Amino acid sequence: DAVPDLELIQSRIRDVADFPAPGILFKDITPLLNDRHALAATVSALAAPFRDTGVDHVIGLEARGFIFGAPVALELGAGFVPARKAGKLPSRTIGQAYDLEYGTATVEIHADALHPGSRVLIVDDVLATGGTGRAAVELVRRAGGTVVGFSVLMELAALQGREKLPDVEPHCLLSV
Ligand code: AMP
Repeated sequence: DAVPDLELIQSRIRDVADFPAPGILFKDITPLLNDRHALAATVSALAAPFRDTGVDHVIGLEARGFIFGAPVALELGAGFVPARKAGKLPSRTIGQAYDLEYGTATVEIHADALHPGSRVLIVDDVLATGGTGRAAVELVRRAGGTVVGFSVLMELAALQGREKLPDVEPHCLLSV
């Protein structure tokens, strides 16, 4: 049942202060990945709202979105598409730049990864400022796909990433 699962999931996320830089409270999911019950509950809860929505592809955002995205794709009977940092994918790509606190970053998918009308669920571990998620949504649309949803393990509510995704209404298992 849902509430004990969420309590288990929450208990397996470790806060690490000042990583990777001073002032950042890093949400370490490795204890969750290590616990077979918490891992299974997380994958199932990320997939649950999208079971009957006809998802064709799950996009996982590098790098922890890969870990959850692939098993979510299996649960939904969908294919998996990695969205990677610039320069990592070998074939022809489309990219979307977004602003960081200092400078910009780019996410890319293979240009042939989606088909016109492809129904896409985006998966990641943490929704922080929403910059990465917003870029992924734009990328899907430019590739001719439709964003069915955005499913994340944890939302850092104070950073208001949700406000960058009003058209997607992120599904977040936990909000801190
Ligand atoms: P953002 O684009 O700001 O929403 O950042 C999202 C990406 O950064 C996600 O892929 C997260 O994995 C990572 N991230 C941001 N903040 C944290 C944090 N406090 N702990 C762990 N990962 C984070």
